[in-house]
Amino acid sequence: MAIQVLPEQLASQIAAGEVVERPASVVKELIENALDAGARTVHVEVRGGGSELVQVADDGAGIPAEDVSIAFQRHATSKLHSAEDLEAISTLGFRGEALAAIAAVSRLTVVTRAVGAAAGTRLVLEGGREASRDLVGAPQGTVIAVENLFYNVPARRKFLKSTTTEKRLIDEFVTRYALAYPGARFRLSHDGRVTFQSQGSGDLADVLVGVYGAEIAGELLALESASGRGSTVSVSGYVGPPGLHWANRNQITIFVNGRWIRDNRLTYAIVQAYHTLLPTGRYPVAVVFVRLPYEQVDVNVHPAKTEVRFRDADAVFGAVQRAVRESLISGGAPRPVSLSQSQIGGDWRLPGGWDRNERPQFSRHETDAQGSFTLDWRPPPEGGAQYGGDRPEPALMGGEKLPIMRVVGQVGASYIITEGPDGIFLIDQHAAHERILYEQFMAARAAQRIASQGLVASATVQLPPDQATLLQDRLGLLEELGFQVEPFGPNTFVVRAIPALLSRLDPAKALAAVVEDLENEKEPLADKLEARIILRVCKSAAVKAGQALSLAEMEAMIAQLEACQNPQTCPHGRPTLIHLSASQLARQFGRA
Ligand code: ADP
Ligand code: MG
Repeated sequence: MAIQVLPEQLASQIAAGEVVERPASVVKELIENALDAGARTVHVEVRGGGSELVQVADDGAGIPAEDVSIAFQRHATSKLHSAEDLEAISTLGFRGEALAAIAAVSRLTVVTRAVGAAAGTRLVLEGGREASRDLVGAPQGTVIAVENLFYNVPARRKFLKSTTTEKRLIDEFVTRYALAYPGARFRLSHDGRVTFQSQGSGDLADVLVGVYGAEIAGELLALESASGRGSTVSVSGYVGPPGLHWANRNQITIFVNGRWIRDNRLTYAIVQAYHTLLPTGRYPVAVVFVRLPYEQVDVNVHPAKTEVRFRDADAVFGAVQRAVRESLISGGAPRPVSLSQSQIGGDWRLPGGWDRNERPQFSRHETDAQGSFTLDWRPPPEGGAQYGGDRPEPALMGGEKLPIMRVVGQVGASYIITEGPDGIFLIDQHAAHERILYEQFMAARAAQRIASQGLVASATVQLPPDQATLLQDRLGLLEELGFQVEPFGPNTFVVRAIPALLSRLDPAKALAAVVEDLENEKEPLADKLEARIILRVCKSAAVKAGQALSLAEMEAMIAQLEACQNPQTCPHGRPTLIHLSASQLARQFGRA
């Protein structure tokens, strides 16, 4: 076949494909344009999941009449003038492709009136070709209506998912931009029904309530801005407490200089910061804003502008991880999201299409279902019942330290009851002990002082060949963790020492527990494996449920738990305790 330059129309359609993949991409591009135009109000109307209609109306600067047609040409933009501008992009758009791309694959109507213009312009394009143009009366701002998306690209139309999926993707973009621009008022409607709106109060906390519902929003921890230390990267936003987790990463939302992006590394940085605070395979909720000088980030990586490259990716990674970690450890900055009674009853939505029936798993709700207690981890309202000196009220969120407690007794040989400055605590002795041992072990490891217990009579262990091979490969790692194991004939090992923590266990059993973890995964990363072994060691060494403890033993354990950095969860992320505040007790007994 002879080489030929594609006809303009076809070239546009091909180019459009990269920018406009689906209705949600149209929503995204139009919202970005509205925000770039300084809009304070953005109304998004969708019909039929976006394939019938996507309309975005804004009160921004509008397009001057003489520029309206130009705006729909490929590579036409008012945001970029020189190659230098490309080095430091401060607007969401800059490629001048979106309007042309959207117009090429739809029937598009724009009505716009620029600041100071006497009248508005209405332009209709069909498949990118101007069909009509006239003067109209219109408020300042721009309305763009996109109908019959992909009507002329049947291949693309076929690839659209169900209306529900398309709707969900649209919801995600609208809520993301509402979070990133709390000063703008967003409203989204599907088929005439308003499904989301934000108030434009400028307070992110208000948007969080709208997006996540009051219940979750009330639990989020504010990230301390981690700028400083000579770093030009600042991090802000909110993360969930460890007790709040999902089966996938969808609730992790990252913005760089006000732009929503996908970034596996930064997502990983956030998840990593929760290390051991979440059960394996569960992911936190996070809304993280990274700000850095425009010239340190390249946003011109892909036409969809959802990927970026950082000049110093490690610095950004580190800043994000530190900020999340610090706020988890300190329990977050003073909690911003105040819950008014009316909000608590409010509707419940999440980006990612969660509804009431698939609500995320809270550790405390699980407990709810089992017992008859109504648990409330939030601090009681101002002026609520409180006793015990001048300590600040313990607001028990993941990562927060415990108050000094007095042991009352043990129940069912499994739970310890204590009294604190604000009510009583029910503590799971096994989970609590695991947490204590874990932190002690990690501290010892950091100081390279893991205690090892030499065995008076060394034990011989014989393993199946595959396990023996695994063990053989990992002897060095085990040694670092306090085991001393030597090969002794085929598939046989001598255990000469074990971690002091495990000294109460039979040496062969102690080793077997660890070998089991070696087996689980064929070639795990060394540090991942090490972490897993440490967890296993702590689990094996911790007191079990059903084990009676003396008062002195319980007091020692509680004192150690108070000293923990993250006393609220066991290293697997399950809660170690349940708190019943004085005011809750008063309420339950009808005294308040
Ligand atoms: P880009 O946003 O990359 O510049 P677009 O194709 O999305 O490219 O838009 C082209 C131009 O049209 C923009 O640069 C801007 O000048 C103008 N424009 C688009 N949408 C709006 C809007 N909602 N309000 C004002 N101007 C707009
Ligand atoms: Mg644009």
